[in-house]
Formats: sequence, structure tokens, C-alpha cells
Amino acid sequence: MSDLRDLYQEVIFDHYRRPRNRGVLPGANHTARGHNPLCGDELTLYLVVEDGIVKDVRFEGQGCAIATASASLMTEALKGKSEAQAEALFGQFHDMITAPPGAPRELSDALGKLAALSGVREFPARIKCATLAWHTLRAALHEASGTVTETKTISTE
Ligand code: ZN
Repeated sequence: MSDLRDLYQEVIFDHYRRPRNRGVLPGANHTARGHNPLCGDELTLYLVVEDGIVKDVRFEGQGCAIATASASLMTEALKGKSEAQAEALFGQFHDMITAPPGAPRELSDALGKLAALSGVREFPARIKCATLAWHTLRAALHEASGTVTETKTISTE
């Protein structure tokens, strides 16, 4: 188990130091801003969605290691997915990250590298860091305008 934990930390650190898909996306047709005031994480998400498929996605902003790695891993996971698949993935990710600490880790294969963030459940204060990019994604897909602010506890959703 400790080997797995080390591997997960390596994935998170790698994506924090070298975020994938970072920057403004020319031609984006969906965009939203996310802000997590508890930690100070901020990100803007850009999407090109055609025929209900996420063709391309990028993000920019400043965040902690968890928020940045989560956004980076999310952008990798999203490309080529339908909006429905993206929603389903968010559901699986959310379930993984809000499971009670110590609960058995039954992770869906669909999560892939996103499983690296499963350890965040041990740190409830950081859950909002990990879900910020996903809530921003939902806002962008639904074309809600303005800034997503994570002030409510995720568990009340
Ligand atoms: Zn954070």
C-alpha cells in the first residue's frame, strides 16, 4: 500500500510541476472561472466542444499542488469524451474523493490516473482543491457565467 501511495504522490507532484494542457485555448467555445477561497486556488477552464464531444481543453491559473494536479489530470482525462461521459467521470471522481477516510478503495478503472488523487479523502480540507476544476468544468459545459466559488461543503450536494 505504501508503494501505491508513493506512486500516487509522484503522479501528483509531476502534474503540479509540469501541468499538462496549460494556457489559453484559442477558439474555445466554453469557458468558466473557478475560485476556491479556502485555499486561494483560481483557475480558468477553456473547452472546445463539438457535437457534444470535448475536442480540446486547457486551463490556466494559480493553485496549490492538489488543485493544479487535479486540473492537469482532468484535462488529460477529458479529451475525446462526450459531455455525458465527462459528467459520469465527475461523479466517479467525486465519490472517490468524498468517501470516508479508511473506507475500502474500490476505484473504477475509468478513473485511470485520476486515482492518484484518492488520498485526498484523508484530508477533508483539501477536497475542494481537488474538485475545483471539476465544478468549473460543469459550469463551463452548462455555460453558466461568472465565477464558481466553492464555499459550500461538498458533502451537502
Ligand atoms: Zn488548494
